[in-house]
Amino acid sequence: MGQLEYVKALTIAGSDSGGGAGIQADIKTMSALGVYAASAVTAVTVQNTLGVSDVHAVPPAVVEAQIRSVMDDIRPTAIKIGMVYDADSMRAIVQAFSHYAPLPIVLDTVMVSSSGSAFMQAGAFECLRDTLLPIATLVTPNLPEAARLAGMDVRCLADMDAAARRIAEYNPGWLLIKGGHLNRTRIEDRLYKNGELVAVFGGMRVETTNTHGTGCTLSAAIAAYLAMGHGVPEAVERARDYVQQAIAQGACVITGRGFGPVNHLFAPVPLQAKASGAPMCTQRLQYRTKS
Ligand code: PLP
Repeated sequence: MGQLEYVKALTIAGSDSGGGAGIQADIKTMSALGVYAASAVTAVTVQNTLGVSDVHAVPPAVVEAQIRSVMDDIRPTAIKIGMVYDADSMRAIVQAFSHYAPLPIVLDTVMVSSSGSAFMQAGAFECLRDTLLPIATLVTPNLPEAARLAGMDVRCLADMDAAARRIAEYNPGWLLIKGGHLNRTRIEDRLYKNGELVAVFGGMRVETTNTHGTGCTLSAAIAAYLAMGHGVPEAVERARDYVQQAIAQGACVITGRGFGPVNHLFAPVPLQAKASGAPMCTQRLQYRTKS
């Protein structure tokens, strides 16, 4: 048999010391789905399930160097970008990717934590919209983020469609607007391409406060499925399924005194590998079992 290589993805995101969101959630998610996770840390946040008490940005040159180091050697086949605190780091990421052939990039437009802390410096929003958005294959805003990107209120499904048309001016590619903030029992996420509605993904809301990091988890899962070679709609469908199960399987578990994490590891699978240099026809590694 020839040489094998893992299916690999890179997450570029902030660290959550509480372990439920950010880069920790991304690495758990990708690993649980059988994808090797490399990482570039953009910021260190001091937080637990009760909230965020501090944020420290990593110097932009170090963000860029981490990406180049991973890209030059490990060669992931899909990228997830989460929290990026300042405009210089956003430009450093764009600069880093200018050296490589285009790859699928999932951009989770992280702006504010659910507890209200700023995950993006004041003044960096225009840079996010004008430099980071255009390099993304898929952008995954929640309703408040979609509203900010579109410059309009988004309060219903029709508003989501109108916002998607406006956001297409900055990125004509794929856009997944997550409808979780519409206070309905049935959640609807809407997938667009160049502002046109392509697919609607529905699901029932699970009653739990353990939803910290669900946005990070979803975008990381999408990147993992893209790394395996799935197209965007299928990757989104599979990733939503994973997140729904992870929420359900962690709904009744207490981790701290506040908003807990989902159960990323409800059904981990071994790392997948493919023949080195081959297209995305993945095969299971032969793991030795204990006798
Ligand atoms: N911490 C970090 C570093 C994040 O990037 C994110 C979201 O993207 C979160 C926390 C998520 O926080 P919450 O689920 O409270 O919105």
